Amino acid sequence: MPLMSNVSPFMSVPAPRKNQYRVGQWAVFREEVIELDGGECVRCGRSRDDGVVLQVHHKKYLKDRAPWEYPLALCETLCKGCHGQEHGVVRPDSGWDYVGEDDLGDLSGKCDRCGTDIRYVYFVQHPKWEPLSVGTVCCDDLTGTKIATERRKFDERLGRFLKSTRWQQVGQFYSIKQKQIAIRVVPVVGGYRIHMNSTTGRTIYPDLDSAKARVFNFIESGEADDFFGSKA
Ligand SMILES: [Zn+2]
Ligand SMILES: [Zn+2]
Ligand SMILES: [Zn+2]
Repeated sequence: MPLMSNVSPFMSVPAPRKNQYRVGQWAVFREEVIELDGGECVRCGRSRDDGVVLQVHHKKYLKDRAPWEYPLALCETLCKGCHGQEHGVVRPDSGWDYVGEDDLGDLSGKCDRCGTDIRYVYFVQHPKWEPLSVGTVCCDDLTGTKIATERRKFDERLGRFLKSTRWQQVGQFYSIKQKQIAIRVVPVVGGYRIHMNSTTGRTIYPDLDSAKARVFNFIESGEADDFFGSKA
């Protein structure tokens, strides 16, 4: 059994970004497609000036590709009416895939499916329909999963961990014991570094919360068990 190395690659992985996408990306992409099509429906030629709603249609479905990552050649502008004819009128209630999410910070969003005001927006897509931005309940419904609910629960637990009174400030650093692992978050030049048991992480996190969040993810994801388990 080798002695614990001073620096471990495991903690060099950056903390996962909370938001996998920004809703804004889709809006920007959509406007780009509409502009390229001259601001009008490619079927009937009507524009927003004619009072129609313009949407972007994906001519082909690419699995595991976010709607705004499609090649422009696979996208076209359709008015809502022409688009409805393209897809049929009844939106499917199953077969949707979760693509990502965003936290708007307040209830400024609206669920595309039920119209509820939402703060947490989930992007879902379907082989035969347009991508939708929906709330937690509708995301779970459409994907037939608990992804959205689980994500919210995870965030709540993370929030409690960040604020936990179990964190103790000892001199310059912060310490906590979680699942038998002694954790310290230590200020260094440019941010904070994580120590777990006698192992020092390589990554420097810009602020205290992102370092603490990385600790939480590391333990929750089971990486900690794999890492320290193998050394036991
Ligand atoms: Zn379409
Ligand atoms: Zn049209
Ligand atoms: Zn909804």
